Amino acid sequence: MVALTLLLCIPFFNSCKDDVDRVELPPEPTPTSSVKPTVYTSNIDNTVKPGNDFFMYAIGSWWKKAEITEFDEGIVSFIKDDAQSAFNEKTDNIDSETVKIMASHAEDPFTNAEENIEFIQQAEKRVNSAQTKEELWKLMGELAAEGFQMPFKLISLAKNGKMGAVFIFDDDLNISSSISKDDSDEEGEDDDDERWETILRNPSLTRALQPIQRGVGTRGFNTEEWPMLVSICEGMGINPADAYIIADDFEEIAKEEFETESSDDFKQLQELETEELAELILTYIDDNLALCSQEYFEAAEAEAEGTLVMSDFMEFITERYLKYDLSHSFADQYCTAQMKQDGEQMVRELKNAFKKRLEQNTWLSEGSKANVIEKLNAMAVNVAYPEWMDEGLVDLSGSESLLEDIFIARKTYNEIIKALTGMSVDKGSFHALIACFFDLTTFNAMYAPIYNSINIFPCWVMDPIFSGKMDNSIKYASATVFAHEITHGFDNEGANWDKYGDINSIWASEADKAEFERRIQLLVEQYNQFEVMPGVFANGEKTLPENIADLGGVEIALDAYTQKMKNDGATDNDIKQGQVDFFVAYANLWRAKYDASYISKNLNDPEKTHSLEKERVNGIVSNTDEWYELFDVKAGDKLYRSPEQRAYIW
Ligand SMILES: [Zn+2]
Repeated sequence: MVALTLLLCIPFFNSCKDDVDRVELPPEPTPTSSVKPTVYTSNIDNTVKPGNDFFMYAIGSWWKKAEITEFDEGIVSFIKDDAQSAFNEKTDNIDSETVKIMASHAEDPFTNAEENIEFIQQAEKRVNSAQTKEELWKLMGELAAEGFQMPFKLISLAKNGKMGAVFIFDDDLNISSSISKDDSDEEGEDDDDERWETILRNPSLTRALQPIQRGVGTRGFNTEEWPMLVSICEGMGINPADAYIIADDFEEIAKEEFETESSDDFKQLQELETEELAELILTYIDDNLALCSQEYFEAAEAEAEGTLVMSDFMEFITERYLKYDLSHSFADQYCTAQMKQDGEQMVRELKNAFKKRLEQNTWLSEGSKANVIEKLNAMAVNVAYPEWMDEGLVDLSGSESLLEDIFIARKTYNEIIKALTGMSVDKGSFHALIACFFDLTTFNAMYAPIYNSINIFPCWVMDPIFSGKMDNSIKYASATVFAHEITHGFDNEGANWDKYGDINSIWASEADKAEFERRIQLLVEQYNQFEVMPGVFANGEKTLPENIADLGGVEIALDAYTQKMKNDGATDNDIKQGQVDFFVAYANLWRAKYDASYISKNLNDPEKTHSLEKERVNGIVSNTDEWYELFDVKAGDKLYRSPEQRAYIW
């Protein structure tokens, strides 16, 4: 059952050819503006007054035809069905040399068995000849650098504008742990991805990093607290001053008000006696034997009482170590330099438009304004793909077996983290993001407060979302997403972070902060009043950062588009036309039809922080002055807000 409050569009009259003379035709729906949209005209429903429901006005004809099937999870939409599936088709067909070689080795994994076993045994010997804990710690670093999995993983995060190597406790044995009794592990991986997204986007969680990072320089894991990590760094060739430790459970730490400074797991690891430590390291080394020979392989399977599904295992390795390499293949194949340049050009225009708005801003003190502009100027712009670094690219050309492939993949992963360590954030953040968290084959765009970077993934600079072939109004409507990400740097969460991605508020005075709070509170109240199903209202608090970003996104992109038209010598009428088209295109970017199940899921899931599609449109346009004039929206129209009621934030 579709229980939406979306307008049912009742035709004004039923015309009947035979009786046409006798029917008194009511007037055409009042033209809402002298300017008629020229884009997405077939999606427009002229029976809906834009001021009553702009979403349905702009997409209503499409909406009537759209059908939600049982496979749609309650929603059909442009982003999900058109854009994402077009993109997925590309990701399904990535031509990666690395993956191809690994796949061919996986077919006959036990080649070079003797050499490989010998290689593993050499490592065992090194462990057995180590005398002290210190030696073993250093050896752990060396082995990790050589491509052995150890009970930790490195990722690359920022501190004070520089990239650092961050230790995460990780007790996963690559190969044995991939042998499973059933294949229901997939959900766990998704969770992992979501967890990272949460960490990157949610300051209250990333805040957990802060005490840990602070501890590095001052209380020093260098000398007293973390001799183990210092030795590991030494073994890996990383400067301990650029390395941090992170607890393995961010969320708990965040809840503990940042009191926890270290991971208990690391503490336990450090406290192991020499013999126990050697034993543990050997377990990690021996894990690799499973891929050396049929005999070891069968033994490992028997012990785990499961089977190793090679394709799942490959996916695991790819997911874990090959994000950067895979991103490279993907970009190489699908994302042209032109796409990247167009996207970057757009971001430049948007940043300029934002700066202009800031110059005209009347509610910020000079001090806060300067902070905002400084942060905006420093914001790293990561569009489409980075300038590739050799350290992250996997070369399997000399490899003769799957085991060797895996060692090269692990080694390469650590090499890029190492290469990034100490690099400035604006240079390194994109590499880090795609090596550690999200490869470029994910359909994504995000602001990362910990890097102060906006990240526009390839999907957003490609057809059917953004391309040179499009009418500019559509292109700039898509660019609202870029501007949305920029605005996240200045939403109620992003405002707590400075230009380096450290926790320092952008507010120079309490008064500025209070005024900001007052303005965003308006948005909260507005969204709380949107009835998304009969008797069910949107959650203005939960969706606040996204709504701030949506509003900034539209205003900044509209400014940029208007400026572009002016620069191109457009007449006033052309500009008006362009703006009308922009708003229609914006609504069509979020065109969607969804049912009650989708609405409930969205409202009840705390992770779903975006407003529903309809409110992403109606909630935003009704705060945008230009829209009132362009679509002749007047008091009495359902979406009408008087100027005092509109939220003016950025
Ligand atoms: Zn957002």
